[in-house]
Amino acid sequence: MSNNATQLIHSIPVDPLTGAIAVPIYQTSTFVQDAPGVNKGYDYARTGNPTRGTLEQVIAQLENGHTGIAFSSGLAAIDAVLKLLESGDEILAVDDIYGGAFRLFTHIYRKFGITVNYTDTTRIENVFNAVTAKTKLIWIETPTNPTLKISDIEAIAGIARANHCLLCVDNTFASPALQQPLLLGADLVVHSATKYLGGHSDLIAGLVVTREKELGEKIKFIQNASGAILSPFDSWLVIRGIETLHLRIKQHGINAQVVAEFLTTHPDVENVYYPGLKTHFNHGIAARQAKGFGGIVSFTLKNDTEKAATSFVTSTRYFKLAESLGGVKSLLCHPAQMTHKSIPAEQRRAAGVADSLIRLSVGLEEVSDLVHDLDRAFTSLHSTPSKNKTVTA
Ligand SMILES: *Cc1c(COP(=O)(O)O)cnc(C)c1O
Repeated sequence: MSNNATQLIHSIPVDPLTGAIAVPIYQTSTFVQDAPGVNKGYDYARTGNPTRGTLEQVIAQLENGHTGIAFSSGLAAIDAVLKLLESGDEILAVDDIYGGAFRLFTHIYRKFGITVNYTDTTRIENVFNAVTAKTKLIWIETPTNPTLKISDIEAIAGIARANHCLLCVDNTFASPALQQPLLLGADLVVHSATKYLGGHSDLIAGLVVTREKELGEKIKFIQNASGAILSPFDSWLVIRGIETLHLRIKQHGINAQVVAEFLTTHPDVENVYYPGLKTHFNHGIAARQAKGFGGIVSFTLKNDTEKAATSFVTSTRYFKLAESLGGVKSLLCHPAQMTHKSIPAEQRRAAGVADSLIRLSVGLEEVSDLVHDLDRAFTSLHSTPSKNKTVTA
């Protein structure tokens, strides 16, 4: 099934009770019953809430899955998927993984006897070689955070199937407007809806979508049993964000392509990471499995030091220095000191996150203003540092 703007906009239903075109916010904790166990489909709002339920249906449709399940954060969504596992199971994960997922795997799940092997999943033979009899879950992000590595979802899904393990794709960077991993054979998709789905840097939310009903029931059970549900208001905000997802993603991609091409020409830049560049290692796979390349661009400086990177990220005007991504306003961050601080330096570098790597979340401003902003920050790298540098707000 195609996933176009029409499908996206009309996946959000009109309220059957009143005809309200916007989804009502059911701000309630419980639902009155006619007799014990006799209700209108809802009994307690941790178990089910109509506003959250609408979001869960919408995301299931957009990802072409069976069941959508909404959580209070992207990490709560990832946590719910991990709770499918048992002590002794192994996870095979992409090496350039989101820092928070790494922390969860390492510091929480390891003590429950779940181990994680990391490999560069951009080469299919690495996945093939790293799967063991104990592997129960293959975990990939594509594109990855922050080096925009691309893995072949369909090929990895084939390996997962042959080895009777699940494939979960963190689809945060692409969003369902660009990429639908379940159609390529993945079993589960997770999202930090905090990013492109919400789209306005005003909420924290997570989503899981399963391809099959049975797996959906298991995650729903975990959602209710562990309780990290998304609130009705935040569910409503994500639905509202989704209404413009196609439009935003399209422009993020156009702007990011311009920014990436500008960076490749700049003498201070060592490497540019963007799947939309023909020089990207897996550009061909990205072009085949996604409808676009997204809004995140990373690059390293010729002067590969934290000091130079710090100077750069404090010199921009429109690119605001902040963690997170996927909003209307451009952001930039220095992963080594921010999002990826919890990964040991050695392992971080081995995964390609250099000391000077800077990640841009290219927003929806005029792209010429964004290019000019970056250009000015490069210039400031060469000016004599002043002690009380002011950053224009
Ligand atoms: C932000 C992010 C997460 C975590 O989501 P939160 O909503 O911050 O909990 C997971 N995966 C990726 C790829 C992310 O960018």
